[in-house]
Amino acid sequence: MKRWVIPFEVDGGGRFLLSRKGFVPAYIRAYEAGALKEKVEEALALLSPQCRVCPRYCKGIDRGADKTGVCRIGRYAWVASAFPHFGEEDVLRGWNGSGTIFFSGCNLRCVFCQNWDISQQRRGQECSPRDLARLMVALQEMGCHNINLVTPEHVVPQVVEALPLAVEMGLRLPLVYNTSSYDSPESLRVLDGLVDIYMPDFKFWDREYARTYLLAPDYPEAARHSIAEMHRQVGVLHVDENGLALRGVLVRHLVMPGMLEDTAQILRWLASLSPDTYVNVMEQYHPAWKAATDPRFASINRPVTGQEMATAYRLAREAGLWRLDTRWRRVWVRFARRLPLEISLGPEG
Ligand code: SF4
Repeated sequence: MKRWVIPFEVDGGGRFLLSRKGFVPAYIRAYEAGALKEKVEEALALLSPQCRVCPRYCKGIDRGADKTGVCRIGRYAWVASAFPHFGEEDVLRGWNGSGTIFFSGCNLRCVFCQNWDISQQRRGQECSPRDLARLMVALQEMGCHNINLVTPEHVVPQVVEALPLAVEMGLRLPLVYNTSSYDSPESLRVLDGLVDIYMPDFKFWDREYARTYLLAPDYPEAARHSIAEMHRQVGVLHVDENGLALRGVLVRHLVMPGMLEDTAQILRWLASLSPDTYVNVMEQYHPAWKAATDPRFASINRPVTGQEMATAYRLAREAGLWRLDTRWRRVWVRFARRLPLEISLGPEG
C-alpha cells in the first residue's frame, strides 16, 4: 500500500478521513437494498413525455422516443472517450488515474468551451446501457480509483440505467458526478443515494454573464440550488488513508478574466454553505472557440493574470475557505491509453 503525506486541507488532520476498509459505494448499497431498480424507473421517467433532466425543460421533447433538445442527445448516451485521467485533482487521480468517461453533447452553450467539438458537435459514439457498464468496469480493471462522469447533466437517466448492469459485472468504485451544476432538481433527486462524490463547477454568479457566456440566464440560481442539494446529500469532502476522495463535494471555480467580483460572490456563498467546503480555484482559463474569434467576447479573449489569481486566492481565504486544492502528490503521469469505445461492442452489446 502506498503512503503519502496528506496535506492538512485534504484530511483536516483526520477530521475528514473515512476508512477505505469500511467504505461501500452508495449505488452498491442501493443495489443490495433492492432500491436500484426503482431508481432506474424513476430516472427513465424523466425522459418522457417531456424531458426534465436539466433546467432547460425542453418543450415537447420526448427523449424516450429519441427526440433531441438543446443537448442534442436522445434516448441513449453518446461517449467521446474513456481513459485514466491524470490531469484531475490529486484526490481523484491518485497514482493510477481517475476513470474518466467524457459524454458528448451538453445542455450549456459556453462560448469559451475547450471541448466544443464534443459538447456542441456531438463527436463520439452512441452507447447502450451495457456499453456504458462495460466502460466503467474496464476503467476499474485498469486500476482507476473512481468513475469520473464528465458532462453527465443531460444523461443522468442513461447513467443510472447502466448501474445495475455494472454492479453485476463487478463495479465497486465510487462515482464522481463531474457537472457544470446546471442540473434539474428531479435529476438530483434520482442521484440521491447513488453518487458518493459530487464535483460541481460554479461558473458565474451574475445572470447577465450567464446569459452572455453560457446562454443560460437562470444558471446562477440553478447552480446554487444544485450545489446546496449535493452538499445536503453527501456533505463536505472526505478522503481515505491515501488521500483519495471517497465521499463529499469538491467544487471547482474557473477564474475568468476581469470578473473577480463574480468570483468573490461565488466564494462567499460557498463559505456560507460550509467553511469546510473543498474548493479548486482554477487558473486554467484560456480563450477557446467563440471567445477566441468573436469580437462580441473580446473582454474574455485573454488568459487570467497572475495578479488576478493571487486576488482570487486571497478572496477565498477572506471568505473563510481554507480547504483549497493544490498539487501535492508526486506521481508518474502517464499518457493515458484511451479505451477503444468498441470495447463495449461485444456479443451481448
Ligand atoms: S437534458 Fe437536453 S433535452 Fe433534456 S431538458 Fe436538458 S437540454 Fe433539453
